[in-house]
Amino acid sequence: MGFFSIFLDLLFPPKCVFCSKILNKSDDGWCDRCTESLPFTENYGKQDGDIFDFCISPLYYTGVVRRSILRYKFRDAPYYADVYGKFLAECIRECRGHAGFDISYDLISWVPLSNKRERSRGYDQAMLLAMSTALELDEVAVETLKKPHDVQAQSELGDKAERRANISGAYTASDPDIINGKRILLIDDVVTTCSTLDECSRVLLSAGAAGVVCAALARGE
Ligand SMILES: [Zn+2]
Repeated sequence: MGFFSIFLDLLFPPKCVFCSKILNKSDDGWCDRCTESLPFTENYGKQDGDIFDFCISPLYYTGVVRRSILRYKFRDAPYYADVYGKFLAECIRECRGHAGFDISYDLISWVPLSNKRERSRGYDQAMLLAMSTALELDEVAVETLKKPHDVQAQSELGDKAERRANISGAYTASDPDIINGKRILLIDDVVTTCSTLDECSRVLLSAGAAGVVCAALARGE
């Protein structure tokens, strides 16, 4: 370790991405206490989609996980993606080959932010998550969707019908040649009602995708 990184560690000691506790040297971005107590899902947190096959999630969107993801999205913490990618890649790896979990795919992609929102935030959190997950799996993530216009944040809306109406028509396929005939693993950070994943899947299937399966870091309880 060089002088400069020792200096940086003294000034900004690495903290657990979930609970913000200062980490030991041997920790890998999260602490032992969180390894024991994070709200892990059962059965890969599987949710069936109306349009995509199913979505898996390693964690529930609650407690320290929820607070961590909110920091990731709104407090300029893009490096959290490195840790999140490890959790998501492990979940994808583990569910391969399990009965009822056909997680096979030809390419990894993500649910994009609108350009306007990405500019104001500085980064697209689902894209970073997809890239770090793909890196863990020795693959690459590829853009398949764009979100030309901003819509109201889904989290500000109520029931599924309202969310579906809000998001309808918000996404377009970025390059049908990339999508055509491919089974796509679509990644997002949080999934609650599945309306966004359904709409993205509809656009991908209309553009010729052979199927869509989804993975999100955290899901609603
Ligand atoms: Zn922790």
